Amino acid sequence: MQEEKISKITEMLLAGGKMLGVHCGSCMSPLFQYQGKVVCPVCGDKAKPAKEEAKAAPLKRVEEVLYAKLNSLAEQLAKETDHTKTLELLNSIKSTLEALEKLKEG
Ligand SMILES: [Zn+2]
Repeated sequence: MQEEKISKITEMLLAGGKMLGVHCGSCMSPLFQYQGKVVCPVCGDKAKPAKEEAKAAPLKRVEEVLYAKLNSLAEQLAKETDHTKTLELLNSIKSTLEALEKLKEG
């Protein structure tokens, strides 16, 4: 995943967006529920959900766990005031996003 995409996704998480288990049809980044709308952090609110491709069940499960993890990391990050811990959380978010990207490639 490109750095720029990752930072846009992180911004969306920090803004309080909830990551959904569907991808944008245009740029394949994860879609978010934000202020009652489904938005793509890269394309904005004109996001079109991609057709969910049939995926092997264990991979699908891993993906769900990673999404849940990201949402919980974002919640922790929102509350964190310690600078070092903030950086640690940001790194965890980045690694989780990279893991998700690898799943899609695989
Ligand atoms: Zn998009």
